Amino acid sequence: MRLLVVEDDPDLNRQLVTALSDAGYAVDAASDGEEGHFLGDSEPYDAIVLDLGLPKMDGISVLERWRKSGKMMPVLILTARDRWSDKVQGFDAGADDYVAKPFHMEEVLARLRALLRRSAGHATNELTCGPVTLDTRSSRVSVNGNPVRLTSHEYRLLAYLMHHTGRVVSRTELVEHLYDQDFDRDSNTIEVFVGRLRKKLGIDVIQTVRGLGYMLSPPADAS
Ligand code: CA
Repeated sequence: MRLLVVEDDPDLNRQLVTALSDAGYAVDAASDGEEGHFLGDSEPYDAIVLDLGLPKMDGISVLERWRKSGKMMPVLILTARDRWSDKVQGFDAGADDYVAKPFHMEEVLARLRALLRRSAGHATNELTCGPVTLDTRSSRVSVNGNPVRLTSHEYRLLAYLMHHTGRVVSRTELVEHLYDQDFDRDSNTIEVFVGRLRKKLGIDVIQTVRGLGYMLSPPADAS
């Protein structure tokens, strides 16, 4: 899952990026409305954290422009000191949720998990595919109840596939959703990660769909 943080306060921006990266997301950051609008318009983020008070272009305008051009990604707005009018304006502009400053990072993380699972059509934070379970709260993965240790890249890959179980995900889509913009992207590395992930999971849940990409589906004997 790849997220964008648009926040002009450098400390807060850094705190958000660090917390979201630690939680297993690929994260890009923008520090003004124009840059934020550009990134959100040109990159396929799974969710965006958007401050409203921003230099160059305010958050409401940024959000309105994204929505006007048909961008559907979930957007969590950061509002100032619980001002109710900010929230109303934000929701009307197309926000999906809000957090009032000052906030607890845990709340931002929980709200983002909720937005991501809802936009992918899941009811809970525990995603399953046959014997594989992935808990987005704890970032833990298990197979038949046995914990599996994954690197952050392997976890991100599995989490993306688990959020989109049952449909084919192309390598390009994986590259776009697993890495931040500064990462040296090479779609061959996806194949390497898939290979490692298959080995660690020890069961056959990641199907290669020739010429198209990958699909996560329960093994035939476990479905
Ligand atoms: Ca601000």
